Amino acid sequence: MKNITIAIDGFSSTGKSTLAKQLATKLNYIYVDSGAMYRAVTFYAMQNHFISKNEFKIEALIAKLTEINLKFKFNPELGFAEIYLNDVNVEREIRTLAVSELVSSVAEISEVRKMLVEQQQEMGKNKGVVMDGRDIGTVVFPYAELKLFMTASAETRAKRRFDELIEKGDDVQFEEILKNVQHRDHIDTTRDDSPLIKAEDAIEIDNSNLTKTAQFELVYAIVLEKLN
Ligand code: C5P
Repeated sequence: MKNITIAIDGFSSTGKSTLAKQLATKLNYIYVDSGAMYRAVTFYAMQNHFISKNEFKIEALIAKLTEINLKFKFNPELGFAEIYLNDVNVEREIRTLAVSELVSSVAEISEVRKMLVEQQQEMGKNKGVVMDGRDIGTVVFPYAELKLFMTASAETRAKRRFDELIEKGDDVQFEEILKNVQHRDHIDTTRDDSPLIKAEDAIEIDNSNLTKTAQFELVYAIVLEKLN
């Protein structure tokens, strides 16, 4: 069977990574969570006191970008690759609300995007990759054979994120998660560099009322058509 590139873009918490992992497992493809890379850079900026709720030392972060080493290592127990920042597994740390609140400001910086897009293109150069993010079908892999654009209402998405964080034991309020989802949507869709938009040739999937299994079956049928 031929290898293709599958680009999955969409708003926060639309289930992009769940779908991407299901497809990668089924097809034996590499899965790359590009959002984890923006989150890891944000976590680095927080650790080095370049960014907080009150200030952002953009130039200081840009000057240190070359010292940020990101790697994905496959974890067979989890069935997907976890992200390492300078050789430390930060998979847990990057999913906190504190990182979610700052990541879109970091993702607006062109120097950060340039560095991460180059790494993403390198990871996908041999095809056989499923990558999810905001600019995968438009900027990272404009020639991807299959592009999906995922949407769902902000309330549905906030509820999903809220349930996930509560299950992990985080102390969060639904209202603050909803605000965060809406705030990130706004920054992600209005930034100058690579805003979140649906690629002209992307297939839009609103999964507000779809179960994970129903969504996977729908998309897998489309994938099979592309492979034939
Ligand atoms: O996908 P996830 O919600 O983890 O992404 C976190 C943030 O990283 C997004 O809200 C967005 O600001 C940024 N991002 C991006 N481009 C990507 C992936 C993520 O700007 N390709």
